[in-house]
Amino acid sequence: MRATELTDPSPCTRTLDAPDTADIWVSRMKARVKIFTYGCQMNDLDSLKIQTEFSRRGFTATGYTREADVIVINTCSVRQKAYEKAMSNLGRLSALKRARPSLVIAVTGCVAQQDREGLLRRMPHVDLVVGTHQLHLLPDLVQDALKGARGRVVAEFSTCIPFMDTIPDTTLSAEPHRAYVTVMQGCDNFCSYCIVPHVRGPEISRRAESVIGEIRAHASQGVREVFLLGQNVNSYRGGMSFPELLRAIHSIDGIERIRFTTSHPKDANDDLVACFRDLPKLCSHIHLPFQSGSDRVLVAMNRHYTREWYLELIERFREARPDIAFSADVMVGFPGETEQDFMETMDVIERVRFDVLYSFKYSVRPMTAAASLADDVPAREKSRRLVVLQARQREITLENNMRRVGSTYDVLVDGASTRVEGQVKGRTTHNAIVNFTGERSLVGRTVRVTVTRAQQNSLTGVLSDAA
Ligand code: SAM
Ligand code: SF4
Repeated sequence: MRATELTDPSPCTRTLDAPDTADIWVSRMKARVKIFTYGCQMNDLDSLKIQTEFSRRGFTATGYTREADVIVINTCSVRQKAYEKAMSNLGRLSALKRARPSLVIAVTGCVAQQDREGLLRRMPHVDLVVGTHQLHLLPDLVQDALKGARGRVVAEFSTCIPFMDTIPDTTLSAEPHRAYVTVMQGCDNFCSYCIVPHVRGPEISRRAESVIGEIRAHASQGVREVFLLGQNVNSYRGGMSFPELLRAIHSIDGIERIRFTTSHPKDANDDLVACFRDLPKLCSHIHLPFQSGSDRVLVAMNRHYTREWYLELIERFREARPDIAFSADVMVGFPGETEQDFMETMDVIERVRFDVLYSFKYSVRPMTAAASLADDVPAREKSRRLVVLQARQREITLENNMRRVGSTYDVLVDGASTRVEGQVKGRTTHNAIVNFTGERSLVGRTVRVTVTRAQQNSLTGVLSDAA
């Protein structure tokens, strides 16, 4: 049976947490769910919410693919590589499905939205395809699939996204003192290389009352840090502006730290800059993707700012918060990128001295404006530029880390260190990772740590005293 385009009659008024009789039927079976997540923090959060919804209905989580009754592949298609990773995992699952036909395989996220029926055609072992606006329907659709319904595709864009209001159970996450909170979804910017507006749909802001209500609930459960998520939080319009939302969250008791991502430079205004001057709970870090240092390439990318404007913006943030740390995304090998353009990108890196830089080789994405341009920077040249850029950035990151040696910071402790037995790890306000000797009982607390050594990707320190 194939029901293409199952539409939810009133998605905005649907209640999400009342289990129906079908849920009870499945919970008796104790169905086990395994979720694979690809891509960004937004997908990580969607997976946590999916897990929350399943656990509310009595499903149990499993780490073992072989024992799962339901497998959810939550996909990303921003870059070709992410797309291929998800597809190859999906391909591998066909043998498992052949051996156990009752297994339910659901594909969610950007690839589900992008490929829809094509996915079912190419991967007949997939039972369910659920797009980016209908994740709230997933548990019910899985219930149906467990009872035999196969081949459903649910991937319509809607004017509201009920799943944004789902409150994730942070106790199911590895860091229950930190909550990731959706403030908006989708994007209206149509950067010429980017598939996001095509697979996540137009920008939809979540109502401020809902965001604030969720954060209050998290604070009452012991969450200390909130991390606000959206493709371009600076264009948030959920009844107030993004800086107004930051100020409202700042006044919530119990919340010690506020972070957010991502900010489009063109929409970072004076009000946002002022938040870094006025709001001590706002962490001293901003992720501000610049993509290219060449004005010519920035125009072709449809980014709506110049390199000078970006560099001035960085200075404005530095004036407001002198110790602010910057991270960014950058791309090499966009169509028509010359050596001179690449040098201008390297120049921005020298001037800003980012703490962290996520760098990518341009890959053609379907449906985008740049897909009609010749992908004319040869693959070897893209690789060479990326190697040069990453080598220089590694030096800058290490130099920035070394400058922190001898300083003492508030560190929110996240968990056991993966590096050294007996150590725990946490983050400074700048988002730098610090490992130090300490008890597991410190997890979720903020302590003072003096940095004694700097490595490429982290710092080592000693505990000063509990803050
Ligand atoms: N909303 C963010 C912004 O405005 O910068 C970016 C979100 S995008 C999901 C994450 C990053 O992937 C982008 O900043 C860009 O550097 C990279 N990216 C997007 N499309 C790409 C493509 N076609 N090829 C290579 N990298 C790409
Ligand atoms: Fe993609 Fe540009 Fe939107 Fe970021 S702002 S999600 S890069 S279209």
